[in-house]
Amino acid sequence: MSSTVSVDAVVDRALLDRLTDRVVARPRAERLATVAPFSGATLAEVPLSTTDDVAAAFDAARDAQHWWAARPVAERARIIGRVHDLVLDRRADIADLVQAEAGKARRDAFEEVADVALAARYVSARGPRVLRERRRLGALPGLTRAIEGYRPKGVVGVVSPWNYPLTLAISDCLPAFVAGNAVVHKPDSQAVLTALLARSIAIEAGLPEALWQIVSGDGPVIGGAVVEHADYVSFTGSTATGRLIAARLGERLVGASLELGGKNPMLVLDDADLDRAAEAAVRACFSNAGQLCMSMERLYVAARVREPFLERFLGRVESMRLGAAFDYSCDMGSLMSQAQLDKVRAHVDDAVGKGARVLTGGNARPDLGPWFHEPTVLDGVRPGMLAADLETFGPLVSVYPVGSDDEAVELANDTPFGLNASVWTSDLRRGVAVARRLRSGVVNVNEGYSAAWGSHDLPIGGMGASGLGRRHGREGILRYTDQQAIAVQRAHNIAPPAAMSYDTFSDALTRSLRVMRRLGRP
Ligand code: NAD
Repeated sequence: MSSTVSVDAVVDRALLDRLTDRVVARPRAERLATVAPFSGATLAEVPLSTTDDVAAAFDAARDAQHWWAARPVAERARIIGRVHDLVLDRRADIADLVQAEAGKARRDAFEEVADVALAARYVSARGPRVLRERRRLGALPGLTRAIEGYRPKGVVGVVSPWNYPLTLAISDCLPAFVAGNAVVHKPDSQAVLTALLARSIAIEAGLPEALWQIVSGDGPVIGGAVVEHADYVSFTGSTATGRLIAARLGERLVGASLELGGKNPMLVLDDADLDRAAEAAVRACFSNAGQLCMSMERLYVAARVREPFLERFLGRVESMRLGAAFDYSCDMGSLMSQAQLDKVRAHVDDAVGKGARVLTGGNARPDLGPWFHEPTVLDGVRPGMLAADLETFGPLVSVYPVGSDDEAVELANDTPFGLNASVWTSDLRRGVAVARRLRSGVVNVNEGYSAAWGSHDLPIGGMGASGLGRRHGREGILRYTDQQAIAVQRAHNIAPPAAMSYDTFSDALTRSLRVMRRLGRP
């Protein structure tokens, strides 16, 4: 029995008013009602920014950035370290708001809290080292000193989606801050409250207020204005929007990391530990009701183990507890919106209409809340069905039998996407060998998504239609910098000495180039 409580019982209205006041918007700005997915009731009225407000946000952020970039990197990192501590201290309040705003299960909300702590710890501990200037090989050994340095981009535009309102709000901002940037951030209109809470925590940790500006409004208009002004863009969202943003930035020669959609495959090889694989598949397919970019939507199972795997997997799916509980009593929450529910319904109905079979689930659950849907497993899904060809981004997975590892790899790679994949086997070398053959920016062996995502030293991102650039790791910090090459010539210009002819100089240079190659100098 889940202890269901109403959103009103957990959300502090006064806090919401204080938070919404911090959106960069005029005093009597138009407001947009955001909705609590658990009930469909209005959660808050969020002020809407105009394009002039976006321009003002960039001006304020730019002023603050000059001062911030001049602070020692260790000082910037210390503030981010305090974000780690505050987020863990406030985990219950944060999880309440994340659940209220996104309608997800408590465990999924806590996963966001833990992820932000991991991100903050990594960025604060590693940022200074990553950003330290490095010696590189100079043109003339001993005579040319070559230094690689990193300069902040300036004001970064962060445009984030609704599905992980905490982690996708703050985790891409922290590395921008440690690298000396300011941020103008446009969260999805249904995820503004959590972003504002994350910002208030960062300010409490010591981040100057002007450094993180939050604007709110329509994607193409307000997101478009952010993209127009930014010195670099960190975008997370759909592939369609990513393409539009890349085209606009291309005209201005401004860089971006684009973290986009997926159609992720899980491969269960014939020697997999089926209990472990089935248990992990539940999380990999249905965490956050499948509204997770790394979520598995295609299960390729070796024909030899298909039956015993399905028995274990379906049993676990059927025992999942759905509900709107602000505690850990439910495994899965609601979908985010009517649009999400409509998409899931369209994919299920289309597949079933074209001959696919529902192995479990298949129904909306209006008895639990307006947008709940059962975790659903389909068999017999074929190309030409929506569930085969498009990202569902919901609690829907299709199972396909495969005759060999080769067939599994071929089918897994048969998609324009390449975000995350999962391989299950008892032979770890075989698992890594299969992983290397997958066209996927991320591969988890014997995990669904959290081993790679949680390894914050690993660069994470997509291949193909799943995006450009990487978050996490060194790359996730350095994307927010321009590399600068400084070469210092200590003595002797790189030209013939006054008394030497070019003939002699070219012979001498040729001889020394040959010597350096013989010595193995790069
Ligand atoms: P979306 O592209 O519609 O919106 C994402 C954000 O972009 C929102 O803030 C939106 O307001 C804004 N936006 C929309 N149009 C814009 C435009 N023309 N210019 C600038 N900004 C614009 O995506 P969504 O449907 O909200 O999110 C779900 C998608 O995000 C899925 O495809 C999912 O796979 C993907 N996603 C990817 C990752 C990842 O790390 N790769 C993580 C989470 C979600």
